Amino acid sequence: MSSKNALSAAIRSIPDYPKPGIIFRDITTLLGDAVAFGQAVDELVAPYAGLGVDKIAGIEARGFILGGALAHQLKAGFVPIRKKGKLPHQTVRMAYSLEYGTDEMEIHVDAVKAGEKVILTDDLIATGGTAEGAVKLLRQLGAEIVSACFVIDLPDLGGRRRLEELGVEVRTLVE
Ligand code: 5GP
Repeated sequence: MSSKNALSAAIRSIPDYPKPGIIFRDITTLLGDAVAFGQAVDELVAPYAGLGVDKIAGIEARGFILGGALAHQLKAGFVPIRKKGKLPHQTVRMAYSLEYGTDEMEIHVDAVKAGEKVILTDDLIATGGTAEGAVKLLRQLGAEIVSACFVIDLPDLGGRRRLEELGVEVRTLVE
């Protein structure tokens, strides 16, 4: 099996979750498979080796799991971007668009220093609304966003294009 196929095979699709008509791509099966998880992390970090990345910013919650592994491999720090009200210290807040409506996400004000090189990560990019909010938050702190990476891209929903229009390089492993 090709490496893309092996990763795709490790992702479980759940019909009608969280709502009728939606197929949820469940990466818990990939995370629980030592070979597939290792392969996903190796493939995500490979293009960034030697770039001198300072921080990996992970989007709550599955972006934390990938982000911790990426940070270790790249010898970078890890920074959480969380839903509002979860972070204990002073934060910067940003509204972001969901399929229906908006929500707000936060980052600690001192999580990234101006000029630091940051890679943004999450498990999946769909419309790109969540990732766009995270990009804006990081830029507000003066981060230089080197790239954004995701295990899964749902290309029909346009998230990749949306981030690229913000000047952010996007890397994904499977569609
Ligand atoms: P977007 O903002 O790009 O439309 O949606 C991406 C966000 O929603 C990510 O934080 C991602 O974790 C979550 N998400 C949306 N659909 C799915 C899905 O089918 N599977 C998983 N694992 N996450 C999803």
